[in-house]
Amino acid sequence: MPSESAHQIPVFDGHNDALTRPDHARLASGREGGHLDLPRMRTGGVRGGIFAVFVESKRAAREPVAETPGAFYEPPAARVPYPRAAAVSAATSGRLLALEREGALRIARDATDLDVARDGDGPPVAVLHFEGAEAIDAELESLETWYAAGLRSLGPVWSRPNRFAHGVPFAFPSSPDTGPGLSPDGRRLVRRCAELGIAVDLAHMNEAGFWDVAALEAGPLIVSHTGAHALAANSRNLTDRQIDAVGASGGLVGIVFSCYFLRANYANDPEGTPLSLIVAHVRHVAERVGTAHVAFGSDFDGTTIPAALGDVAGMPRLLAALAEGGFSDAEIRAIAWDNWRRVLGAWWR
Ligand code: ZN
Repeated sequence: MPSESAHQIPVFDGHNDALTRPDHARLASGREGGHLDLPRMRTGGVRGGIFAVFVESKRAAREPVAETPGAFYEPPAARVPYPRAAAVSAATSGRLLALEREGALRIARDATDLDVARDGDGPPVAVLHFEGAEAIDAELESLETWYAAGLRSLGPVWSRPNRFAHGVPFAFPSSPDTGPGLSPDGRRLVRRCAELGIAVDLAHMNEAGFWDVAALEAGPLIVSHTGAHALAANSRNLTDRQIDAVGASGGLVGIVFSCYFLRANYANDPEGTPLSLIVAHVRHVAERVGTAHVAFGSDFDGTTIPAALGDVAGMPRLLAALAEGGFSDAEIRAIAWDNWRRVLGAWWR
């Protein structure tokens, strides 16, 4: 039974793909199906979130792997050329800017924008995020343009290579250690993001790239939508060593709600994936490095999620599951909002 207080805790969600769904035009008025729109965010107490701009590319067929049932390897998706990435990203970002112009949401440009959304009864706050840096040129000149447009979070890679780094291919079971790390351009990108005040997100990056970014000490490490490899041994999840490094940097792990990444068998089984499994991943990170370093990164509209959650309106049920799992109200507040606020604020200073 949801506790009274859990209902009132504001939520910041660290990753959604709603901007790139075919019915994105109904984000403000309410979509049929899908996971996230602005009316359902309000119902769920979700007052802020990171909205991803993503450019599709052809995905390779999964190759079965003999030993384990369900095991597979999916080669990296095709590279995206800069002109196409820039064009698609300009249009997709325009969708978010249009929603701000209509008054349906506010785009976060500094940390006080997050506080206003948390404390007030106004529109939710959206962080403009690129999932993959293909829309950034080698000289990083366009990064200035994107910053001016509101870009405040950047994942150097999705699960494919680009000039900056190598994304981790989808694979189960698999270590995240799948290839080379950051290129020289990638190092310049991370440093420039830190100078400008754009958070760097390591979701979808392979392990070598993760350690290369960590070594730059550019800011607290963020992995926006992922799980614990100790509980679900797929390539997208973080090893305990990586989780320790995130904690030591003052950063955070955003726990994904994707059935694939939560489950030990990588099965797409929304009915069979209980909210307690999300809680288990939260607990794993919290017990290793503390509740200050774990948060939410749903991947709404980018994956399949537990039926018990349903969509973003179901967030109070997850808060209640955390409470039932022994997390205090103060801990749930940190997980649900304050940790994202602290870490984004550190990058945006
Ligand atoms: Zn993703």
